[in-house]
Amino acid sequence: MKKIIRLISIALILLLFVSGCSKNIKDANAEDIQTTEDQTQQNNVEGEENKESQQEESKEEEINVDPKEKIDLSLKPNEAGQIMVLMYHNIGEEEAEWVRTPENFKKDLKTLYEKGYRPISLEDFVNNNIDVEAGLTPVVLTFDDGNQNNFNIIEKDGQKIVDPNSAVGILEEFNKEYPDFPLKATFFVFGENPFRQPELLEYKLNYLIEKGFDIGNHTVGHNDMSKISDPNKIQEYIGKQAAFLESLIPGYKVNTYALSYGARPKDKSLYPYLQKGEFEGKSYENIAILNVGWDPSVSPIDKAFDPYAIHRIRASETKVDGVGMYDWLTVFDKNPERRFISDGNPDIVTVPKKFEEKVDKEKLGDKELYIYEE
Ligand SMILES: [Zn+2]
Repeated sequence: MKKIIRLISIALILLLFVSGCSKNIKDANAEDIQTTEDQTQQNNVEGEENKESQQEESKEEEINVDPKEKIDLSLKPNEAGQIMVLMYHNIGEEEAEWVRTPENFKKDLKTLYEKGYRPISLEDFVNNNIDVEAGLTPVVLTFDDGNQNNFNIIEKDGQKIVDPNSAVGILEEFNKEYPDFPLKATFFVFGENPFRQPELLEYKLNYLIEKGFDIGNHTVGHNDMSKISDPNKIQEYIGKQAAFLESLIPGYKVNTYALSYGARPKDKSLYPYLQKGEFEGKSYENIAILNVGWDPSVSPIDKAFDPYAIHRIRASETKVDGVGMYDWLTVFDKNPERRFISDGNPDIVTVPKKFEEKVDKEKLGDKELYIYEE
């Protein structure tokens, strides 16, 4: 407004000047134009200053608003609640203890989606770097053994395509339909022939990483660690596999490990080698070690959370007797306060008062803890 008034007055002065002077009108005009330009410049500077101070004000306002006030407590956020880490093995034609049919795997994804579960990476899970929409629950998807049906490439019309009935094909198709169900899953592979199409191994590994999936360690020979008492052997079985996979995926660190058969060495003093070690000059370090299990994991900020012994649930409907994925989904449907429910703000850890005791404040890092009364 100020600017408009100023411009009008300049125009008026200019008009008076021009009409009042009959002689030297050329010079006068030149002078005046000069003045107008100066004025305009000044106006511009002032205008910018105004804009800046307005921005500063709104910035200040934003800083003054406590981000906690934006958290919708009616969604009953509980970031100390449990998280399911699901364990798959095969996607195949016949449903069995370790096999989901493509139809059932699709059903699993749809069920998870509709019940408000969203995949996060294993690394984000253990680092408590959980960024899912307010009111939703993270879930971690894992596949063991690197079977061909996890990631199969087929030829169609002379072109190589991802088998739409393999796990990767189904996940990608689902993600196309539901983009807010991200491509996050870890494939734990052993030996030199993951996914069983050796000529495509390098391509497949890099494809997965590029899409946002992860590759995890499942040892060199699907080794049963309960039968091993030599620390050098443990380091060989884990370290050699990590080095092999990393040699095929430039810049990628294999830092998660799913125990084959869920087995650990009998001698507990050997446990540190599961986490860290070295083989032939190459070191490895696992930030997560996964069990074979039957119940959901506690939240990564829970005092009981152990990243080196993460509980998993079998994503199966066969021989799981009350402890499979669908059993836990029912438990969480009936007791929603037990599941992790996001507050929508990754910088704040929101926990109902009655869960306060569970929180390990050391694990919060630079995140703010927000306790609320229900
Ligand atoms: Zn296995």
